Amino acid sequence: MTLDLADLPVIDGHCHPPLGEATPLTPETFPDLFTEARPGALTPQLATSLYYRRALRDLGGLLGVPPEPAAILAARATPDASRRLAEAFGRERLEALLVDTAYPPGAMPLERMRALLPCRVLEVFRLETFAEDLLARALPFKDFMEAFADGVQAATRECIALKSIIAYRSGLGVKLGDRKAAEADYARLLAGDPSARRRLTAKGLLDHLLEAALELAAETGRALQLHTGLGDPDLDLLQANPLLLKPILDDPRFAGVRLVLLHAAYPYTREAGYLAAVYPGVYVDLSLALPILGPAFVPLLRELLALAPTGKLLYGSDLGALPELYCLGAARARQALAEALGGLVKDGALGEGEAREAAAGILAENATRLYGLVVAGG
Ligand SMILES: [Zn+2]
Repeated sequence: MTLDLADLPVIDGHCHPPLGEATPLTPETFPDLFTEARPGALTPQLATSLYYRRALRDLGGLLGVPPEPAAILAARATPDASRRLAEAFGRERLEALLVDTAYPPGAMPLERMRALLPCRVLEVFRLETFAEDLLARALPFKDFMEAFADGVQAATRECIALKSIIAYRSGLGVKLGDRKAAEADYARLLAGDPSARRRLTAKGLLDHLLEAALELAAETGRALQLHTGLGDPDLDLLQANPLLLKPILDDPRFAGVRLVLLHAAYPYTREAGYLAAVYPGVYVDLSLALPILGPAFVPLLRELLALAPTGKLLYGSDLGALPELYCLGAARARQALAEALGGLVKDGALGEGEAREAAAGILAENATRLYGLVVAGG
């Protein structure tokens, strides 16, 4: 059986801003929006990528044009496009976007997103980008750490969640309690080539900064989103396995911290589900893996639903670039959830009412609870 989940509201718990005006798309650069490969690296090969082809069909369908980049881009430039976009937001009942503003560079600012989109737009604060900005000030180490803590503290008040991409830089195998290594890294960075400060990869320093942020997350109750699993080729996927987080998960100082494992940690999705099943603070976000794999994510989603409490799974898309994609991501997620939950109902794993309740949680209510979002009208 397939459940009808069309009436359930959606919160996109992890996404990125649309492209800014300085980044015009052409039919040649358009396919790059639908791959984690380096820009242009896979262009001819993407013609046979299921994700890309599905995206073309979905976008063409939404805009009423053939599934071709040139036709899609031309349709987006007409006044009719904004009407279609507003309709799609309404149809998908998209209520809020939690936006990691640190990627891509030069993206649409939040204020513009708020003016353009008929939903709430909330900011996710990326720790490493903030630390990189601070490095430019070349403060003494102690002052640097204080300024970092002050900035993160302010973000816990102004932003909806914190986020770390340490998996991308030095890996999730964080070594706790090594201030000396951090200080040594910091001294080396300040003495060395300034370009090394713009993309921080020094493990000692990154580990120490994450530890400081975890302390603040514990103190303030702000959830921390962590990149886990797949990403672009900057990533060493072996270092993005959430099982590496064990020292953090077992540290009593961080017992109260809510960690959201992004991208279902794919291909470590079972590992993520396991952690959510045994650690109270671990939650699993479905972004990136779900849109990329599409219907092929259903068997994994079914496993996650069976393994972890469904109240700990959260919808997210990781989409950005074109605002239409938020809607298409939500529609596809609804479909995948309906299929996975419908199958579990058919097999007697849960009742239809329970399945709908689980879906309502995953699509929006779990995020509302986890992030302390105020419900519209409430
Ligand atoms: Zn992301």
